[in-house]
Amino acid sequence: MSAVQWLEPRSLAEAGEVRAQRGAEATVLAGGSFLGILMNQGFLSPTCLLSLRAVGELRGITVRDGELCLGAMVTHRQVERDETVRRDWPALARAFGIVASPRVRNQATVGGVLADADYASDPPAMLGALGARAVLRGPTGEREVAIDELILGFYQTCIADDELLTEVRVPPAEPGAVYRKFRSRSSEDRPCVAVAAARSGGALRVVVGACAEMPQHYPDICALAAEGPLDGAMAREIARRYAERLQPLTDARGSAGYRRRIVAVEVRRALEELGGVGGETLVRGRQGGTLVRGRRGGTLVRGRRRAGP
Ligand SMILES: Cc1cc2nc3c(=O)[nH]c(=O)nc-3n(C[C@H](O)[C@H](O)[C@H](O)COP(=O)(O)OP(=O)(O)OC[C@H]3O[C@@H](n4cnc5c(N)ncnc54)[C@H](O)[C@@H]3O)c2cc1C
Repeated sequence: MSAVQWLEPRSLAEAGEVRAQRGAEATVLAGGSFLGILMNQGFLSPTCLLSLRAVGELRGITVRDGELCLGAMVTHRQVERDETVRRDWPALARAFGIVASPRVRNQATVGGVLADADYASDPPAMLGALGARAVLRGPTGEREVAIDELILGFYQTCIADDELLTEVRVPPAEPGAVYRKFRSRSSEDRPCVAVAAARSGGALRVVVGACAEMPQHYPDICALAAEGPLDGAMAREIARRYAERLQPLTDARGSAGYRRRIVAVEVRRALEELGGVGGETLVRGRQGGTLVRGRRGGTLVRGRRRAGP
């Protein structure tokens, strides 16, 4: 087996130069939680790794002009625990905070989860619902792309071979964004159905993840919410239309038919939560902890609360 060349630039400028020179020949390495599995299983045998771990400029969590700016090398755990994110973007903190285990979240990065474009990841749906944009830096400068422009299909993005994903910008949060993760198997970390809902710029955005090759967002259906209050009837109607429109895939986590039924329930519950109508909050699976019963917004909440880290 030939040795793998290890490149470890110390600055963003240097990383950009190496990326521009070496292109696809150098595989970008962030937390390595996705790449490591592919390499261990023999699906990928890079000859050269471009590690971003020494690039301090990619590790910041800042707020600029009211937008949350997450550096590409910020870990899931940092997003989950950051005080500003928890206070002003709580649904985002939650979406990152229920990925796998603390061990994985300490490795996995914001840039990595978007660049790997796994259809069953949690953060992309939530970032999409919040109207986030990814910053791609190449030899001729930077460009910003919305999450639904970034992810093109199964494990495919629009990131060019000479570009790096450097930052994710999340617009000011409007109160009440919701993230719901439905796991169908107790042994699974990844969602069978993920639903993120938020109001962005006054408009409702509902994004369904883990059901198709990329997160699904139907603006025409979401526009119904402009016609009346987001009450129980509106939540049911939008959920019904999402379930009808979506062409879910079948995998080990659930069949297309099963997923369609879960989408109808989970979109409705997400919108009920968003509209303050109430509904059940259920976090299922390996992280399930204590059975909790309580009231939110005057509505009975029942479910399994995730055990603390
Ligand atoms: C046991 C386990 C359980 C998991 N469960 C979940 C789960 O429940 N929910 C969930 O959402 N995810 C889950 N994951 C996936 C995990 O979140 C991803 O593996 C992780 O987000 C990838 O990030 P990374 O930093 O490790 O990326 P890496 O593995 O380093 O890289 C991933 C890909 O992105 C490219 N890349 C990375 N950074 C950049 C960049 N800045 N610019 C351009 N390209 C880049 C790499 O070249 C590579 O192709 C799980 C993973 C494991 C191992």
